[in-house]
Amino acid sequence: MTKQNIDLLITNIGKCLTLEGPKRARTGAEMKELGEIEKAAIAIVDGKIFAVGTEQEVLEQLKNHAITEQIDAGGALVTPGLVDPHTHLVHGGSREHELALKIEGVPYLEILSRGGGILSTVRSTIEASEQELYDQAWKSLNEMLLHGTTTVEAKSGYGLNLDVELKQLRVAHQLDEKHPIDLVHTFMGAHAIPLEYKEDPERFVDLLINEMIPEVARLGLAEFCDIFCEQGVFSVEQSRRILSAAREHGMKLKIHADEIVSLGGAELAAELQCRSAEHLMATDDKGIQAMKDSGVIGVLLPATSFNLATGKFAPARKMIEAGMAIALSTDYNPGSSPTESMQMVQTCGCLYLRMTPAEVLTATTINAAYAIDRGDQVGSLEVGKKADIVIWKSKNLEYIPYHFGINHVDHVIKAGKLVVNKGQLV
Ligand SMILES: [Zn+2]
Repeated sequence: MTKQNIDLLITNIGKCLTLEGPKRARTGAEMKELGEIEKAAIAIVDGKIFAVGTEQEVLEQLKNHAITEQIDAGGALVTPGLVDPHTHLVHGGSREHELALKIEGVPYLEILSRGGGILSTVRSTIEASEQELYDQAWKSLNEMLLHGTTTVEAKSGYGLNLDVELKQLRVAHQLDEKHPIDLVHTFMGAHAIPLEYKEDPERFVDLLINEMIPEVARLGLAEFCDIFCEQGVFSVEQSRRILSAAREHGMKLKIHADEIVSLGGAELAAELQCRSAEHLMATDDKGIQAMKDSGVIGVLLPATSFNLATGKFAPARKMIEAGMAIALSTDYNPGSSPTESMQMVQTCGCLYLRMTPAEVLTATTINAAYAIDRGDQVGSLEVGKKADIVIWKSKNLEYIPYHFGINHVDHVIKAGKLVVNKGQLV
């Protein structure tokens, strides 16, 4: 019997952080356990990891196998591809002209009343053709890949009407088909209350429940439903109704909660057993305990806090010490977080959330994968999982968040294929 061909063999890995461990999101001290292997090698067959271990072990296992292609990692650090579990990827336009206003201290509500803010992104997204949205998001996905991200969650939410929400979701599906990065699709029609419903937001809630959610579900365009539960946006009661409707239509749940005010969004996430709750800057001890007890993963967005420059960050240390699982994400969007770089998020996670480089790596790989229900496929380097791998220029993990503001990626392998070579797209 002939032995299986090895499609790709990575040798001379100085340090391989596999993130191997229990088959669930990591909590507490587990977040520091990175499954380190010195002098490692990884073998790939059919886009999946066939063998991972010390170079000696792997080469022994591969005796008599033919090897198609080989990469020498040059003694560098190797980790799983990064997972970005919260982005507003598909949108029209950008909002750089608001930067000077923000610095001058013009309040967000005034920027909004001058036609800026989220409503300007809604307008640009409505006006953009599908091709324009596709082209713009394609460039963002390239940036993400160049910075080591191999799986991304993408939300709709800049249409706020059925047609444009569907347009965003369709574009995300086309991107998923064509781009090397894998996308996870979320419907977030409940991102803001459109101007025309300001006087009667209940009518918009009814529209979401009776028309938008059923149609998105019928077309199979979203795996998750998300909502912005916040004072002045959607109340806890409205969020409960909308998310319950989404669940009845087979969607899994996420919630933007406690970004500004502790309204009870964290408790609602626990009650509905949402897969994840996002932002959580204002969450109190009760909310943390509730999420911990029901296994909700907190997705924290420190680059958003950094960019808003208000000095308010999520209480990550409290969450970790309470035993709650947390992940980190870019929140990539044109308003509060215009960055595709998970390395930037890692630096902010260390400096502002007081997380160690090891905790930050866990939060941007395996825990991020569980936050979007992909923990069984990506987020760690284990036999049978997708071969999504980053070879860094650095030899150690700490150097990456420490030396901030530049790109440390040397090579990216996505599903077994070399897609970034020496910092360039292949
Ligand atoms: Zn968001």
